[in-house]
Amino acid sequence: MSQENIPFYLSQGNETDLFQHAWSNQLPVMIKGPTGCGKTRFIEHMAAKLGRPLYTVSCHDDLTAADLVGRHLIGEEGTFWVDGPLTRAVREGAICYLDEVVEARKDTTVVIHPLTDDRRILPIERTGETLKAPAEFMLVVSYNPGYQNILKGMKPSTRQRFVGMTFDFPPPELEQEIILRETGVDEKTATALVKLGNALRVLKDHDLEEAASTRLLIYAARLMKSGLSASEACLAAMAEPLTDDLETRDALMEVIRISL
Ligand code: ADP
Repeated sequence: MSQENIPFYLSQGNETDLFQHAWSNQLPVMIKGPTGCGKTRFIEHMAAKLGRPLYTVSCHDDLTAADLVGRHLIGEEGTFWVDGPLTRAVREGAICYLDEVVEARKDTTVVIHPLTDDRRILPIERTGETLKAPAEFMLVVSYNPGYQNILKGMKPSTRQRFVGMTFDFPPPELEQEIILRETGVDEKTATALVKLGNALRVLKDHDLEEAASTRLLIYAARLMKSGLSASEACLAAMAEPLTDDLETRDALMEVIRISL
């Protein structure tokens, strides 16, 4: 893939190097970090850089092993098998990214385990097939350790199958550059938004369940760039998504007014 077609990703450390080494050594990767801090963009960037197709699955609490592996469907000519995204990724030597993997049903570990040790196989119980993953195949999972749900943590026996990395919001200079590149706002606006983001991040754990993410700063910047005032943009892109509580929302708007 030519350089221009690789999604923009600004590195924070050695993550691109580490990912490349993990891929070359056929090791699965686990990325921990808050929502909206660049995990998905990083994987899109790496998949393009390595020239591999990418299958992304957003996990949720109804997601079962069959959703990943595939199932028989009924058509006019009887039943036929349809590969799920994980099976397709194994067949094609692609990268399969399970976003928020801890949300998925527990039976998904049954298919993840044999793919993440030396065997690198995907047994498809319902068809009797066992696929051997090609060298190019890679499994990547992510989750947000901030959600303090003990029941939903990743089991140690599963975690130990992955090479891990922790992501966080980029430091101010980098976050400013990301906002500039992603939205085309002027530098003054980007600087102000980053300052605001960091001021709001201090409120996490006190009043907010989730911190103001880079994604939200980018949304606010896009709305401002298209003509909304700073306070309209920040109310819609930041205060509203961060809280349902009216008092907290007013407090956030106060921080926004002071910062912009
Ligand atoms: P996550 O998967 O962690 O929830 P995303 O990867 O979707 O977050 O990031 C949200 C947005 O933030 C991206 O669409 C991108 O615009 C921007 N972003 C965050 N970090 C970076 C980065 N390091 N380089 C480029 N863009 C980034």
